[in-house]
Amino acid sequence: MADPPPLTERLDAFMARANAAYYASHDPFADFTTAPEISQVFGEVLGLWAAVTWQMLGSPDMVMLIEAGPGRGTLMADALRAIGRAMPAFRAALSLRFIETSPRLRAEQATRVPDAVWHDSLDDVPEGPTILLANEFLDALPIRQFIRRGEGWKERFVSEGAFVERPHADVLPDAPDGSILERCEPAQAFVAALGTRFARHKGAALFLDYGPEHSGYGDSLQALAGGKPADPLAAPGLADLTAHVDFAALAAAARAAGASVHGPAPQGMFLAELGLFQRANRLARGLPPAQAAAVMESVRRLGEPNRMGRLFKALAIASAGCPPLPGLGG
Ligand code: SAH
Repeated sequence: MADPPPLTERLDAFMARANAAYYASHDPFADFTTAPEISQVFGEVLGLWAAVTWQMLGSPDMVMLIEAGPGRGTLMADALRAIGRAMPAFRAALSLRFIETSPRLRAEQATRVPDAVWHDSLDDVPEGPTILLANEFLDALPIRQFIRRGEGWKERFVSEGAFVERPHADVLPDAPDGSILERCEPAQAFVAALGTRFARHKGAALFLDYGPEHSGYGDSLQALAGGKPADPLAAPGLADLTAHVDFAALAAAARAAGASVHGPAPQGMFLAELGLFQRANRLARGLPPAQAAAVMESVRRLGEPNRMGRLFKALAIASAGCPPLPGLGG
C-alpha cells in the first residue's frame, strides 16, 4: 500500500503526486487530445525541423534525439518516417531517447517506437550532441502558486480538497491584493540543465506548449477529467492537471545557463513556416475527397489563430552562437 498523502501539501507536491497517479493509471488520451494525435503532419514537420537543426549543429556523427513526455509515441513515429525519407544520414546518426515516467505509457510508446531507450529524467541521458523535442510536456510539471494578501505574499497549500494559505518569506513584486503568481521550478530546472549540456556539447531543444508570451498574474491551474473541466483539487489522480507555461521565465533560465533562445513564436506561424499546409496538401492529393478534407481540417485546427495556432507557442533553446533555427527567425 502507498503511504497516505500528508494532510497539508504544498501545491507543487500535490500536483506532482496527482499527475504521477493519473499518468500511471489512466489513458490520458481518453481525456484530451494533442497535436500529434490530431495530424500526422505535426510530427513529420517536427522531424524535418530536427533534421535541419542537426545540420545547423554541424551534422555530428552521433546525436541523442530525445523526446520528453512522448505520450503514445505518435509524434516520434511520424518524425522518424519523415526523417528517414528526407535525411537518412540524420536517421543513421541518431540515438533515440524517451524521458517518460509512466510505465503504462512506456509500454504504449514501445509499440510505435521499439528502438527507443527510456529514461526517468534528463539526468540519466548520456551526454553528447543532443536534439530534444517536447510537446505538452512542461504544462504537466508541478507549479507553486503565491497569492498577494495585504502587504505581503502567502503560498498556496492543499488540504482536504481546498486551498489553505501559509506565510511566504521570499520577496516578490508588488501586486494588487488577491493577485496570483505562478512558478514552475521543474520546468526552469529542466531548461537550465539543457542549457548547461548545450555549453559542453552542441544541442538544441524545441518546446511546444500553451501559455502567454509574457509572464503575468493569474491562476492557470486546470483539470480535465473525462474530457471535461474538473475541480483540480477534488480528486487527485483522476484528472489531468496542467498549468500555462511561462515562456519568458524559461527563456530567462536558458539565457542564465548560457544558451541562445529562439522564439517564442505562435504555433500557427511556426508550423506554417515549416510547411505544414504544403505537406498536408500533398498528403491530401492522393486521398478520396472526404479523407482529403479531414487532413486539411486537422492541420487548420493546429494552425489557425483562433484554434490552437495562437495560444500554443514554439520556443527553442540552443548552444550559444547557434544561428536562428527553422521557423523561429531562421
Ligand atoms: N507529448 C505527448 C503527450 C503529452 S501528455 C503528446 O503531445 O501527445 C504529457 C506526457 O508527459 C505524458 O507522456 C506523461 O506521462 C509525461 N510526463 C508527465 N510528467 C512527467 C515527468 N515529470 N517526467 C517525465 N514524463 C512526464
